[in-house]
Amino acid sequence: IFALRSSYCFSTGAAEPSSSLPIPPRVPNLIGGKFVDSQSSSTIDVINPATQEAVSRVPLTTNEEFRAAVSAAKQAFPAWRNTPITTRQRVMLKLQELIRRDIDKLAMNITTEQGKTLKDAHGDVFRGLEVVEHACGMATLQMGEYVPNVSNGIDTFSIREPLGVCAGICPFNFPAMIPLWMFPVAVTCGNTFILKPSEKDPGASIILAELAMEAGLPDGVLNIVHGTNDVVNAICDDDDIRAISFVGSNTAGMHIYSRASAKGKRVQSNMGAKNHAIVLPDANVDATLNALVAAGFGAAGQRCMALSTVVFVGDPQSWENKLVERAKSLKVNSGMEPDADLGPVISKQAKERVCRLIQSGVESGARLLLDGRNIVVPGFEHGNFIGPTILTGVTADMECYKEEIFGPVLLCMEAGSFEEAINILNRNKYGNGAAIFTASGAAARKFQTEIEAGQVGINVPIPVPLPFFSFTGSKASFAGDLNFYGKAGVNFYTQIKTITQQWKDLPGGSGVSLAMPTSQ
Ligand code: NAD
Repeated sequence: IFALRSSYCFSTGAAEPSSSLPIPPRVPNLIGGKFVDSQSSSTIDVINPATQEAVSRVPLTTNEEFRAAVSAAKQAFPAWRNTPITTRQRVMLKLQELIRRDIDKLAMNITTEQGKTLKDAHGDVFRGLEVVEHACGMATLQMGEYVPNVSNGIDTFSIREPLGVCAGICPFNFPAMIPLWMFPVAVTCGNTFILKPSEKDPGASIILAELAMEAGLPDGVLNIVHGTNDVVNAICDDDDIRAISFVGSNTAGMHIYSRASAKGKRVQSNMGAKNHAIVLPDANVDATLNALVAAGFGAAGQRCMALSTVVFVGDPQSWENKLVERAKSLKVNSGMEPDADLGPVISKQAKERVCRLIQSGVESGARLLLDGRNIVVPGFEHGNFIGPTILTGVTADMECYKEEIFGPVLLCMEAGSFEEAINILNRNKYGNGAAIFTASGAAARKFQTEIEAGQVGINVPIPVPLPFFSFTGSKASFAGDLNFYGKAGVNFYTQIKTITQQWKDLPGGSGVSLAMPTSQ
């Protein structure tokens, strides 16, 4: 197992056809505290998107193994929920230290399997690490409420109890941050957990689980299974699983939301996005351009908080000219190369899809200001690279506008007025985030009030809130009612129990009353 783990970090070779490479290691399941190879002969190759090298092989966890993982989580629950919260917090305190110790290893793994630049991969780990840090204060976050003497000699208090076995289903684009949005909050609340990493880049989850166990998480509290639709459906249907956290596409998210809710489970489902920025004519030119370029093309546009559409109020020409100049100067390269600004997209299919959507924009009348489709990266000719691409004259009826592109593509639109720009944004079905760039406080305040998006940036591109807030996507970007992390995250992983107690010298012989009790 140790050999399996460390091998995730060192598959960084240059472009070679995959046929000449050795057999990749298999990714283990984690069941009841043991990393075990699956009995399954069905596997999916984890492919380095810069080189096409097979980094590892993910098994499709069998149904028996899945049941064993749930059973281990169920067995571990009673002792873990009764473990003092201070002890549970201390496991997180140790975990954050270990993540810091191994951040380079985690980042290397992420760049190898997911493709983002090493610097960006460090950010991926760091933004998850912050959730672990926040979980170190769980005793305060999970505190209940108390009202003394609600009636004569009677007190009422409420406590937040863990649910039991919870599960998390992850996307490919943040291999460390998103698992860390889930299991640290869930387990510190006293739950046990089944994690299903993305089959495209499961390595970071395995490393994080190793660290969690080194930090003192008892056997069975965190378990890992692998696969795609079948294991996800098994999670939705399993009677022992009480709650599911999902992050990924709308197709999968809505399926999981309806299937698992029908089984009476809690579901929080963070899904796709089409984040817009409005640029008013008075915006600071330099800062705005930097923000548009960073949020549009960072991580090759594969962030749910990527800025994929910009609406210029007034004449867009001078903005667009400068935007193209800055985007052109970005360096597309393997994420391992120190000069890389953006790496490849996750797969050949993802690249084909992004290129098809760019072409559909051109065919429906948008103009290409910058075309990154034919980029060749020397030394990485087989990589799934797309250079920064800018389309202008985009309208709301175009397929490239309606679909989430999830690539380094920025769509430019024009609005005659601020109101028209707000209407464009509000008509979009997604509601993950929106930003405005302006020097006017009044305009910013109007935007903040009227915009129908869950996360709003004012002179900052779409922000991922820090863990003392919650990740608050809305409209088609979220299903459920309790968001990830922060207070909402703690509420999601706990249920309220309300206790009313009477401690007084009970008067005898006062008779029995069958009337509805009222406070006296
Ligand atoms: P995806 O939906 O393809 O996969 C996510 C998970 O669901 C994976 O673990 C996968 O195995 C599983 N899955 C996929 N299809 C399934 C199906 N039909 N039935 C059951 N399970 C299924 O998503 P992805 O491509 O890995 O991630 C990209 C998407 O995630 C984008 O839409 C992006 O916007 C979204 N995302 C959203 C947020 C957010 O917080 N809103 C954050 C990150 C990513």
